[in-house]
Parts: sequence; structure tokens; C-alpha cells
Amino acid sequence: MPEMLASYVAGSWYTAPDAGVVVVDAATAEPVARVSSQGLDTRAVVEHARRAGGPALRRMSFQERAAALKTLAAHLDSKKSEYYELSAATGATRRDSAVDIDGGIATTFVFSSVGKRELPEGNILGDGDAVAMGKEGTFVGRHVYTALPGAALQINAFNFPVWGMLEKLAPAVLAGMPSIVKPATPTAYVTAAVVRDIVASGALPEGAVQLVCGGLGDLLDHFGGQDLIAFTGSASTASMLRGHAAVTTRATRFNAETDSLNCSILGPDAGPGTEEFGLFVKEVAREMTVKAGQKCTAIRRAFVPQPLVDDAISALRERLDRVVVGNPRSESVTMGALVSLHQRDEVRGAVDALRRSAQLVSGDPEQVETIDADPQRGAFMAPVLLACRDLDRSEPHEVEAFGPVSTVIPYTTVDDVAGLAARGNGSLVGSIVSHDTTFVRDVVLATAPHHGRLLLLDRDCAGESTGHGTPMPQLVHGGPGRAGGGEELGGLRAVKHYMQRTALQGSPAVVAAVVGAA
Ligand code: NAP
Repeated sequence: MPEMLASYVAGSWYTAPDAGVVVVDAATAEPVARVSSQGLDTRAVVEHARRAGGPALRRMSFQERAAALKTLAAHLDSKKSEYYELSAATGATRRDSAVDIDGGIATTFVFSSVGKRELPEGNILGDGDAVAMGKEGTFVGRHVYTALPGAALQINAFNFPVWGMLEKLAPAVLAGMPSIVKPATPTAYVTAAVVRDIVASGALPEGAVQLVCGGLGDLLDHFGGQDLIAFTGSASTASMLRGHAAVTTRATRFNAETDSLNCSILGPDAGPGTEEFGLFVKEVAREMTVKAGQKCTAIRRAFVPQPLVDDAISALRERLDRVVVGNPRSESVTMGALVSLHQRDEVRGAVDALRRSAQLVSGDPEQVETIDADPQRGAFMAPVLLACRDLDRSEPHEVEAFGPVSTVIPYTTVDDVAGLAARGNGSLVGSIVSHDTTFVRDVVLATAPHHGRLLLLDRDCAGESTGHGTPMPQLVHGGPGRAGGGEELGGLRAVKHYMQRTALQGSPAVVAAVVGAA
């Protein structure tokens, strides 16, 4: 029996007494860990955050917390080879793990810099200028932000066990709010290793971070209006949590980052031979294969002008044929495994649904050749490209195959592609690949309200582009509608999510003295 993962709660490590859920290596099916939270005192977790972690964090100034984040990021950076080893068991190649591990550490560094540059000394953040409320100027109003004195519950999806935690933890620390981290069960052992190092580092005060491995039990029953839930995962879990009395009755803040049928749009100007055509093909193929397509930002819908469809499919097929699937520890492997056999079955089911409106043009969801691994025991799947043949059907816009799957969909005009993009009901990210600024502007105007982020990719920015699928800490991550309607990252804005905005009214001198020079 593998070891039970311990939770870090109320200042000590708690190991559940039951058998728990056994989590296995995605590529080899060897047991890795057991996960359970049975018997955990949830009230004590919430109280510890409120009574120990929060006050200790808020005894530090913004500047001290920014410095602590830098120390923490440097410490995790020195430990990352251990995380890479564990990450391989999730099915991730080295390149995939870098997105999660180095991406998470880099995000922590960025938030440290944001704090250093953009936050004042002290613990109160002024927002905008003071506004005169009377003719004499003796009475003004000014908005300020202060940290919520409650607990921030951070519920994460399985696909980014390190980045997913750190991108939430860093702004919470800066704000002065303690975190309760709840990783997804299939990859909780990676998060747990990082939390162990966070605690051991002493960079953050006791109670600033707690970890619950396994179910949350009745934890939300202890949440109220000064607490916050930052959720990342499927739309169905988000919807269930959104209906909890903590949110509906007690007004616990709730932010959701959920699924998304992200799209990439190839411009009519970008035919074969143009740089943009090559960029589009590279980007779609990359988004299908990085993390075996298990990315909330992956391109699920590739919109291609009708006359370019055949060229796009053959170029994509040629690229996908070169993908080497297998044990992510093997040097020659370019795409690892899905996180579990269960997840592979889910993806195969989604491909079946997509096939009601589309035909397979590359890859077989049931067959795959693997390097250094048994395709029956590991959760492997070939990249699967589909071509939509019935534009009236809803599946390509509604069914999320959370794996190496994408559908090419033809379009004719700007209005047409804008309408098709909108059928995704809100996405985290879209990309427009074109060198025609008129086309790009028209598509941006029509599609921006449906997206949290838009990448406008062409030959001029390709060299420095961070890519379609990479959320940047400085920019908004989130999206309307199906994407959850929430917002994360975006620099200082992310910090403010963990704070209350209050309008102060009074004399200019008193307001200025309270807010400080900020
Ligand atoms: P999931 O099944 O919804 O689980 C997400 C998290 O919710 C996990 O930590 C899970 O814990 C927890 N959870 C499940 N039931 C819960 C409950 N009743 N109360 C409290 N927490 C509960 O999603 P997933 O399978 O891990 O992740 C895949 C999905 O996430 C995809 O649809 C993907 O698009 C989406 N995603 C979105 C983003 C984004 O930023 N928008 C990023 C990554 C992934 P357990 O594992 O212990 O059940």
C-alpha cells in the first residue's frame, strides 16, 4: 500500500486513518499515494486560518509580504528537481512539468515584483485619487482596499498541481489573507510536496497556508461573508459549489475558473506559404499535445476559412504524425499520458459525442503506439483531430474533450466566425492568427466580449509571443459564461480580489492620514 498523503492543518500534519483513495502513476499504473481527509477537524482549519494565519500575515506590511514571496519562490526553485520527479507520475513530460512547476515559481516571483513596485508600505491600499464631495473641498471620498479577515479556500484542478496553487497563493499572501489549499485528488501528491517545502521554508508565518488532501467534508459550513472560495475545475463542480449556502446565503465570495471551448481563428489572408499559416498549425498542434491536451486554455475549436480547410488539415496531420506518445520519463517521448484511465475514458466518450457532427481526420482514440510503456496499463491516447461536417450541430461548441483533441471548423465571413466563436458560450482565451489588421480588428470587436484573453498572433510578434495557452500573471485569466465568469491573475487586480473595497469619506487631511502617501 502506498503512503497516505498528510494534510497540513492547524499547525501540524494530519494523516487520515482509513484506506483512502489509491492514486496510481498515469503511465505505469504503479500506486503512488493514498488520499483521504477522513476525521479532519474542518472547523479547526478555518479557525486556524482566521485566528493564526490571517493576523500573522497582516502584522507584516505589503512590502514584507512581497519580500517573503520572493524568498519563497527562490526556495521552491532550489527544490524543483523533486517536483519534476513526482510530476512525471502524473503523465507529464519534462516540457509539461516546466509549464506547471517553473510556471508556478515564475508567477510567484512576478507577484513579488508586483507587490514591491505597486503596493505601498503598511496595510491599506488607496484606489484612485480622493474626489471632492462638496464645493469647499473640505469633504472628500476615496476608495481603499484592506485584506479580508477570513480564510481563502483554493480548490484546484488536477492538471496544474503546482501552478494552480501558486497563482492563487501568491496574490492571497500579498493581500494578507491565509489560504486553505485543496488540490485535486489525482495529482495531490505533487501539491503536497510543494506545501511541505513551503511550510519547512519558514518564509510565510504559521497558518498562512494549510493543505487539505481529500474531500472538504463540511468545511464550507464554517464559511461566511469574510471568506472566499477560488475554484478551478469543471463547470459542474463550480455550479454545485455556487449553490452552497455559504455562497447563496452567507455571501462567501466565489470565483470560478472552469471549462472552456477555446478557439483559434485563422485569417483568410493566412494561406499556405504565409508565416501566419505555419504559426496557426504550430499553435493548434502544440495546444493539442502539451499536457496531453489537459489544459483549460487548449484550442478545442480551430476555425479555418472554408477554402483553406484541406490545407490546414493536411498540415496539422503532418505535424501530429510526428508526435511520440509514451512514458514521459523517456527522452524521445513528446506527449505523455492523460492523468488516469478514468480521464482517458472520459475523453474517449467526448470524442464519440463530437463524432456526431465531425469526422476523424487524424489519430484513433482507441489505438495508440507507445514508447517505453504498456498502452493498456497507462492512460495513453493518440492526438485526435476532427473536422466538423455539420455546422448546425452543437457538439463542437459544447463538448469539452479534456485531452489531445481538437476540431477544425470551416467559416466564411467575419460575422460567421464571430457567431461560431460565440457558440462556445464564453471562453478563457481565443487567438486570431492573421496579418490583416482590418480582419483582426473586426474579429476582436465581435469576439472580445466572449473571451477573457485574445492573442493576436502574426509574424511580427511570433518571436516573443508567449502562446495561445499560457496565462500570464500580469494579464487577466478567466472568462465569461461557461469559463466560469471569474477572473484571476492580472497583476495587482488579483491581489484586490482578496480584499474589501471601502469608500472612505472625510476631510482631506484625515483621509490622507489614514491612507498614507499611497
Ligand atoms: P473537477 O472534477 O471539477 O475538480 C476540481 C476540484 O474540485 C478538485 O480539487 C476536486 O477535488 C474538487 N471537488 C470536486 N467535488 C467537490 C465538492 N463537492 N466540494 C469541493 N470540492 C470538490 O475538475 P478536474 O477534473 O480536477 O479538472 C478538469 C476540469 O477543470 C476541466 O473541465 C478543465 O477545463 C477545468 N480547468 C479549468 C481551468 C481554468 O483556469 N479555467 C484550469 C484547469 C482546469 P477531488 O479531485 O478531490 O474530487
